[in-house]
Amino acid sequence: MTRILDFPYAGCSLTIPGTMNAAIFLDRDGTIIKEKEFLRDPAEVEVLPGAPAALKRLREAGFKLVIVSNQSGVGRGYFTLADVDKVNAHLTREFSRHGVQFEKIYFAPEAPDQPSRGRKPSPQFLWDAREDFGIDLASSYMIGDKLIDVQCGWNAGVKMSILVRTGYGAETEREFADKLERAVIVDDLCGAAEWIVNSLKG
Ligand SMILES: [Mg+2]
Repeated sequence: MTRILDFPYAGCSLTIPGTMNAAIFLDRDGTIIKEKEFLRDPAEVEVLPGAPAALKRLREAGFKLVIVSNQSGVGRGYFTLADVDKVNAHLTREFSRHGVQFEKIYFAPEAPDQPSRGRKPSPQFLWDAREDFGIDLASSYMIGDKLIDVQCGWNAGVKMSILVRTGYGAETEREFADKLERAVIVDDLCGAAEWIVNSLKG
């Protein structure tokens, strides 16, 4: 467990080096649950096959799990913040049945044309997680199915951004091949967990 020394002035803390306090930052839709355009009904949540096992493996490897999600359906007026909370609560319950806990779910409710503090590809929520949990971003990973996900990781300075081919991932791989040279591309969350765990050995 990394110890954090809190300084008496706001926004400054010191992480003692030498201990791992890394996170896996996860996109939600198309990455850990099935992509359903503008998902608003908890009953529609479908955990992707193998996702709980993959996340359990990453937890056991010592990573904190943090979800970072754009939910522009709120800003577009398709659903409310309460709907997002209900979906997230359901998802949290589903994964906890498999023994998987998330540290926090950050989400940006704004539409693409609205000012937003954290909407991906902004790295803001990863910076927030650094403050909230003392996470070392340079030892952390970002996993998602869109270009904005991998860009978010790069913008925050994570060790590696990983694109999964689930959700919009296969389409993203075809469409933005020239922009993905620095990304690792795998079939799904299991592939991502496998890649990460193997990279720790090397
Ligand atoms: Mg997604």
